[in-house]
Formats: sequence, structure tokens, C-alpha cells
Amino acid sequence: MVDLIVVGAGPAGITAGIYAARKKVDSLILSKDVGGQTILSGDVENYTGYQFITGSELVKKFEEHLKQFNVPFKGDQEVKRITKIEKGNFSVETAQGSYEGRSVIVASGRRSRLLGAKGEDIFRNKGISYCATCDGPLFAKKTVAVVGGGNSALDAVLQMMHIAEKVYLIDINPTLGGDQIMREKIVATANVEILNNAATKEIIGDQFVRAIKVEQAGALKEIALQGVFVEIGSVPNSDFVNGVKKNKAGEIIVDHLNRTNIPGLFAAGDVTDIPEKQIIVAAGEGAKAVLGVFRYLSQN
Ligand SMILES: Cc1cc2nc3c(=O)[nH]c(=O)nc-3n(C[C@H](O)[C@H](O)[C@H](O)COP(=O)(O)OP(=O)(O)OC[C@H]3O[C@@H](n4cnc5c(N)ncnc54)[C@H](O)[C@@H]3O)c2cc1C
Repeated sequence: MVDLIVVGAGPAGITAGIYAARKKVDSLILSKDVGGQTILSGDVENYTGYQFITGSELVKKFEEHLKQFNVPFKGDQEVKRITKIEKGNFSVETAQGSYEGRSVIVASGRRSRLLGAKGEDIFRNKGISYCATCDGPLFAKKTVAVVGGGNSALDAVLQMMHIAEKVYLIDINPTLGGDQIMREKIVATANVEILNNAATKEIIGDQFVRAIKVEQAGALKEIALQGVFVEIGSVPNSDFVNGVKKNKAGEIIVDHLNRTNIPGLFAAGDVTDIPEKQIIVAAGEGAKAVLGVFRYLSQN
């Protein structure tokens, strides 16, 4: 039995661990990995104190900080269920075992949204990727498509237009979303072709992807390519938390002290309904959540 179990070790979970150690709250972090989405970020230019740092360098700094405070950490642990048990305590179950805590902070972040097109299941990691930063270099001098029309899609195109020979940007909407500065760069680039009002119907291949089928103005078009980057946003990792109030998007609803509707259950970072999904915001929310937990434990 510990005072606090933190689920997740992205910026929110790691910061929560550090704050808990400094507040002498007996805690345990359970996580699938270290770093969360930050590791997927190529260049980070908006984390205070670092004018420029890569996502993986920043995660290394987070890890060093965590180790300095000897925060108990168990990796490779996917939390499957959180249940309220007697005396208001919580049981947190993973495939490896079950842990008990007087309080819990859910800091499990988000994952990529799936496209839902035919063939997606077959060719995942065989030409279909959800992270241009991670997999982009595998497609050097190849033809690829980026599916999506918001900032994450534009970011992927900006990376891939320097790596791939040709990039199709396939957007289901009539006009691209995202930041104007990114759009302007993309529109002015010769090896990028933008398809608007285009619905991705199927991804075709043998052992690896070889084409994508797109419907535009009622007509089906097959484009030969070797890679497809799906960049259509993300969904919160909140399925394993039952009984807690979530919004329509599945994000856990928290108040200004990071409390959920269940006493003792707190949440922080991208998994919550806090609208800004950023590293510095998630880290701040992790810190706030522990201060909320500290108050809760003192009063209960
Ligand atoms: C490609 C990309 C680039 C980005 N670039 C920037 C940028 O430049 N600047 C910026 O500020 N933000 C950026 N972001 C956003 C930023 O990465 C996130 O806002 C931030 O990482 C959220 O932190 P978090 O701790 O809430 O969640 P996450 O980073 O998602 O971490 C969640 C953690 O929970 C773990 N987890 C999930 N489910 C479970 C489970 N069931 N059991 C146990 N553990 C679990 C995960 O393994 C992970 O460790 C970027 C995001 C992406 C995808």
C-alpha cells in the first residue's frame, strides 16, 4: 500500500513523481514507457529553459530528474483497471500484478487516432505509420501520403517533404486547417501535392504498402506509393478508468485542483479535458495534481 499511484510516465506523470518525492508522499509510478508522446516530438522549442531541445533529449532530462529523487518506478506495466476498494483506497491492476494506493493520479496521455480504412490493420508498421518523426527516415526518396489536414498532418508533411521524393497530403475537408505559416510553406513546395475533399478508402499492398485508394468527387483514384502517415489527431488513454466522469471525447473531467468526480482519484495532462495539449502544460498539471493529492491525504 502506497499513498499515491501515478499511472503514466510522460511529462505529467514524471513531474507528479518528482513533486510527490519532494512532498514526501510515498508513491509508485506504473507506466508502459518513459516519456510518452514527448519522445515522438522531433524538435521542442517551447519548453521554458530550453531554447531548443529534441523530444528524446528532453525525456532523458526528465528521467535523470526522476532518478535523482529515487522515485519508485515500474516500467512495462499497462494498467488494465482501477477499482475503488474498502476504506476509499484504490486497486490498480496490470498484467503483472495488482497494487494498492490511498490515491491515484491518472496521467496516461493520448494515442494516435486510427484511420478506419480497409487494410489499415494489415499494413500497420508495414508502410503505415502514425509518427513521421519516428519513421520518416525509412521513406527516404520514396513516395508517401500524409492523411489529415490539421497541424499534426502539416508537421508531418513539413518533415517528409525533405526526406521523400513526393508527398501527397490527403485531406478529407475542402480546405486545410492548421497554422497559416505551415500551410504557406507546404503550398509553395514542389514535391507536395494536396488532395482536398479526399476520403481514404483503402490501403493496398502485398507484404508492404504499395498504393492508397482515395475517393474524390465521387471517383475512386489509386495512387502508387510506399508509405502512409496517418495524422488525424489522437484519443485519450482513458478506457481503463471506469466510473469516472468523461467528456464526449473520452477525456477525464477534472477541476482546478485536478480532482475527478471520485474522491482520491486525480488526473493530469493530455488525458484530461484541459484543452491545451502541450509538454509544459502537462508537466504543470502533474505538479498541481500532486499538490491536490497532498491536500486530500492530509484531510483524509
Ligand atoms: C508528434 C508530436 C509532437 C509534439 N510536439 C510538441 C512540442 O513540440 N511541444 C509541446 O509542448 N508539445 C508537443 N506535443 C504534445 C506533447 O507531447 C503532449 O502534450 C505531452 O506529452 C502530454 O504529456 P502527458 O504526460 O499528459 O501524456 P503522454 O506524453 O501521452 O504520456 C502518457 C504516459 O502514460 C503511459 N500510459 C498510457 N496508457 C497507460 C496504461 N494503460 N498503463 C500504464 N501506462 C500508460 C504512456 O506509456 C506514457 O508514458 C507533441 C505531440 C506529438 C504526438
